[in-house]
Amino acid sequence: MTAFTSELLPNYLAGQWQIGTGVGSALSDPVTGSELVRVDATGLDLEAGFDFARQQGGTDLRALSYRQRGALLGSVLKVLQANRDAYYEIATANSGTVKNDSAVDIDGALFTLGVYAKMGETLGDRHFLLDGEPARLGKDPLFQSQHIQSPTRGVALFINAFNFPAWGLWEKAAPALLSGVPVIIKPATATAWLTQRMVRDVVDSGILPTGALSVICGSSTGLLDQLQTFDVLSFTGSAETAAVIRSHPAVTQRSVRVNIEADSLNSALLLPGEGADSESFALLAKEVAREMTVKSGQKCTAIRRIFVPESQYAAAAEAIGERLAKTTVGNPRNETVRMGALVNRTQFDAVRIGLDYLKTQTAVLHDGASHALVDADASSCCLGPTLLGTRNAAGSDASDRVHDTEVFGPVATLIPYRNLAHALQLVRRGQGSLVCSVYGSDAAALTQAAIGLADSHGRVHIVSPDVAALHTGHGNVMPQSLHGGPGRAGGGEELGGLRALNFYHRRSALQASGTVLAQLSAPAEIAIA
Ligand code: NAP
Repeated sequence: MTAFTSELLPNYLAGQWQIGTGVGSALSDPVTGSELVRVDATGLDLEAGFDFARQQGGTDLRALSYRQRGALLGSVLKVLQANRDAYYEIATANSGTVKNDSAVDIDGALFTLGVYAKMGETLGDRHFLLDGEPARLGKDPLFQSQHIQSPTRGVALFINAFNFPAWGLWEKAAPALLSGVPVIIKPATATAWLTQRMVRDVVDSGILPTGALSVICGSSTGLLDQLQTFDVLSFTGSAETAAVIRSHPAVTQRSVRVNIEADSLNSALLLPGEGADSESFALLAKEVAREMTVKSGQKCTAIRRIFVPESQYAAAAEAIGERLAKTTVGNPRNETVRMGALVNRTQFDAVRIGLDYLKTQTAVLHDGASHALVDADASSCCLGPTLLGTRNAAGSDASDRVHDTEVFGPVATLIPYRNLAHALQLVRRGQGSLVCSVYGSDAAALTQAAIGLADSHGRVHIVSPDVAALHTGHGNVMPQSLHGGPGRAGGGEELGGLRALNFYHRRSALQASGTVLAQLSAPAEIAIA
């Protein structure tokens, strides 16, 4: 059993565990309200810590090949697997999640790490990557251009959101470390404990070179000031904080490369012609109810808007409502509970305010307030799932709030459409999203809709009856597929298999004689000077 005490968690920077000099911020249990641990980063020598990571961690990582770094990730995975039970305990206490929801974060992290560990093997003993084929630069073929990708000589700073303290760390750190770039992670304060504990276990294991992985818990003050030209910054969080980050001199003046994953009004779309008795209809209702309730809707990929033909509106409201009504809500320690708490009072209040805002343009089709709480009282951050809806397809054109407002909780809105063109137009009013799932049985119609949605979504998840038992879920981010979305979703790109490594590499064109470029065909023998 992990001892839950109100200890101040140490930060790990410059190869040392360091306690902040302030009183810190308390992390609490969203069900019982009790204080768990405190975090604080006051007084840390950030400049020395960032330099140490760049100089020591970066140099030692770049001296290794992709295969060797992949092997290190494999060893890190074993350490995390050995401590998995402790991570679940922390998640229950600090995030208020039921076991299945903790698994999305914790086991999702371990799975992603494992995928990148294996990729190291496929990249082999080289220290840089070839990018495409050589290209002739003139009539004489001797002088050619070959693009290569080499790891950036900086540090990767990660600033993460509260909802994925485990996966959010490793989905970023695995590609960075595999690329040979040291990582400094600043988790969201509300749930920093799980991230800090994972880093602690990995640091204590001594597997990674010193300075390859650091953690700073507490305020973000001063972090961006440390970033230099060859550093990279990967941010996940709200659009408001993203705007602050984009305007920082590190980005505007020092050209620090930035990846932003922000909020997103993801959609589910039932194609025209799919009746209430169709398998596609049932698959949509199931997935919507699941997405609304997994992690209490605190998933960046969760379905927020559901589009159905206007003839199916009433049936969809009933089918989704029936499923939501079966969701038991309350203390995640009670085994009958299927949906735990929102992460804290601030988020709880924000969801209530967001719901009231959406209700001014929608009707309540299933009321979260109708759910009795199990082993939790009104002072907890538990809230039942709420399905909202507009009344008719013409009304859906007039409602703007549902397309603009991300309520980060168990809330979604059902919206009727007149025809496919109308549906696609409404989906696109989200201004760019992480994911849209499309439900139907006609392969040609599914393809046509997916192509129409691809430019405004990082991922289009197509659910036809033949993959009913196989598909990986609307909201589950698989490391093989791209995660990120254009426009409002932040414009970022993460994962997508080896594509994730691009962010941590610099592309360069080597222009030379074919004799010189031929040296690149034995890359294992060329280390990075
Ligand atoms: P947030 O309030 O924007 O915080 C995100 C992170 O930024 C936290 O670590 C926070 O630290 C830090 N931060 C706050 N102010 C900062 C500043 N001025 N400079 C630098 N860093 C700063 O977001 P959140 O409430 O944790 O997360 C919820 C949001 O994240 C939702 O909108 C959700 O859609 C989005 N999200 C997106 C994805 C995705 O992949 N697209 C994934 C998950 C969540 P403190 O915690 O210490 O304030």
